[in-house]
Amino acid sequence: MSDLIQRLRADFPALHQEINGKPLVYLDNGATTQKPQVVIDAISDYYRHDNSNVHRGAHTLSDRATHAFEQARKTVQQFINAAKPEEIIWTRGTTESINLVAHSFGDSLQAGDQILISAMEHHANIVPWQMLAQRKGAELKVIPVNERGELDYPAFVELLNDRVKLVSIVHVSNALGTINPVEDMIAKAHAVGAKVLLDGAQSTAHWDIDVQALDVDFFAFSGHKLFGPTGIGVLYGKEALLEAMPPYQTGGEMIEHVSFEQTTFNQLPFKFEPGTPNIAGVIGLAAAVDYLQGLDRDALLAHEHQLLQRARTLAADMAELRLIGDAEHKASIFGFVLNGAHPADVGTLLDQQGIAVRTGHHCAMPIMEQFGVPGSVRASFSFYNTVDEVDALFAGLEKAKLFLL
Ligand code: PLP
Repeated sequence: MSDLIQRLRADFPALHQEINGKPLVYLDNGATTQKPQVVIDAISDYYRHDNSNVHRGAHTLSDRATHAFEQARKTVQQFINAAKPEEIIWTRGTTESINLVAHSFGDSLQAGDQILISAMEHHANIVPWQMLAQRKGAELKVIPVNERGELDYPAFVELLNDRVKLVSIVHVSNALGTINPVEDMIAKAHAVGAKVLLDGAQSTAHWDIDVQALDVDFFAFSGHKLFGPTGIGVLYGKEALLEAMPPYQTGGEMIEHVSFEQTTFNQLPFKFEPGTPNIAGVIGLAAAVDYLQGLDRDALLAHEHQLLQRARTLAADMAELRLIGDAEHKASIFGFVLNGAHPADVGTLLDQQGIAVRTGHHCAMPIMEQFGVPGSVRASFSFYNTVDEVDALFAGLEKAKLFLL
């Protein structure tokens, strides 16, 4: 396995550098992942050879750009097993995907309707619903989370009723690493007639998603957390739902016909893609997906799990370390605090040793509050991380403790 990981590391140029005189140990993959050379090449090749606007030019470059752009949609469709390419809407990222649903699907909500989220959501999956609830006189209900950072499933079931129109839930918590039991939740939500949105920002980087097997109504994710570029993301939606929804933003491309009296809208997916899209981002994302599809993702997931287990084992021997999120089903996201030390100080001292982690509230203030901390230190592992890097993290923490405790 370690030979394979070393070979894969060679694909990621940014991993091979020194920070503060030490080899970079990049453990901030939950914030964004590094990019393989094939993604960097796909973007620069596009700008070098094919740069043109899509869907409008009567010339060869535009044809090439349009072909690559629509081919990328098919690549992503197959990657998440959507039934049709029209169900793949390009957005700027998870945040915009959720906002799109909150505005467009949300338009159908009425006073007294309910939206269910959980206590472990990212702000991107809280604030759009809060604002929608205010606009519509709807109610936002929150599924509680236990002290291990697991969703309270019986409480979720109890909250379900026929007034719930949407359950919007994080697939994998970015702050805690918890993997939510989304298959069961989707079935239960559907039984009361509610639709389900999954925030897949953190799950897509770790395992293959099958939206049809999940039977999920909406699935949102970001390219940059999936080894692709920033500024590009995806909203998957079931065709019938997307068809019924009004446009989110308006302008060029999303129309069929415009007059000053009346505008008719373009067909899916263009109805939701006004303006010139992030063409290079789309092409870069497809290159990332192609790259991932050439890997044995099950084996890499097992490797990530080993990294997490190693971190858990080392943490058990560090008395000052308190885990923030210790769910039974957990992705390779390792959040903690060192009792007596501010997370930001821990992060700075690790950075001095070349170790990149994230500190703070991770855009999930409510769950941090529940754990009684202003924030945490988060090491989030990707398949290109090694056991040696986990050990380096703990060696770095030992040094940090000398300064801080
Ligand atoms: N949801 C979760 C669980 C996340 O981890 C993130 C990013 O950290 C987001 C949503 C927002 O993603 P983006 O900033 O790419 O839109």
